[in-house]
Amino acid sequence: MTAPPPTTRAHRSCVVVARSCPARDRMSRPDSPLTAAESDAFLRSVENVHAAAFQHLSGTRDQASVVGFVVQLQRGIDAVYQERFRQGAKPDCQSGCSYCCHTRVEALPVEVFRIAQHLSQRAGTQLNEFKDRLKKQVSAADGALSWQDRPACIFLEDDRCSIYEIRPGVCRKAHSFDAMKCATGSADIPEDLGLLLDAEALMKGTSNAYEQLGFESAGVELGYAVLQTLSDPTLEARWYRGERVFSQKAGQSPESGRDEG
Ligand code: SF4
Repeated sequence: MTAPPPTTRAHRSCVVVARSCPARDRMSRPDSPLTAAESDAFLRSVENVHAAAFQHLSGTRDQASVVGFVVQLQRGIDAVYQERFRQGAKPDCQSGCSYCCHTRVEALPVEVFRIAQHLSQRAGTQLNEFKDRLKKQVSAADGALSWQDRPACIFLEDDRCSIYEIRPGVCRKAHSFDAMKCATGSADIPEDLGLLLDAEALMKGTSNAYEQLGFESAGVELGYAVLQTLSDPTLEARWYRGERVFSQKAGQSPESGRDEG
């Protein structure tokens, strides 16, 4: 795929995990900067990833392997990111810059499970304290009227990601060529469209493979979904059995009728 011009993003999401995606929007508009050949290349990439992911997932025999497969996706996005910037593009992102961690973040269910597994290793008191903070964060995010009101991602600590190694794919592909626009919550943040397309082909193809095998794969709001998973010890196993475990309404308490610990 040739190097297309930078694009823009409004929040941390993608064609797989949210309805609003700069790359998809650009492709579907009459003034799309993508040529028909580039659009075809993107769709072919999605299909190639889908086929490879489906073949791999079809051969996995247990829940841990199915969930763990998402690591391949995340490594792929990291490789795409590194390659684009090795080629000379210079994002404005700096260590400690965290404006984009105040936006809505959506993750794949399998990414949520890995994060919840990581958190579950904490001691009981620590985990309960975290869940209390997360409940407040989810509630505040629900009530936020604007970007400025929205609380930071629960995993942002001292302006750094506390789950960096297992952060979702949408966080891995996030970048900006103008940090000032991030600071002001602009909906017009310049990004590298080629990077977005390559990363989203990986995400879309992988998500399609999970879906084809009967696993819920639509994107879910990160904080809320982690709280749901931590609050219901049966949730991941039910997902593995093919249930749509994240489909409840956003306003419904994730803890209703479940473990109150
Ligand atoms: S998971 Fe990490 S990188 Fe992603 S929004 Fe939260 S703090 Fe930021």
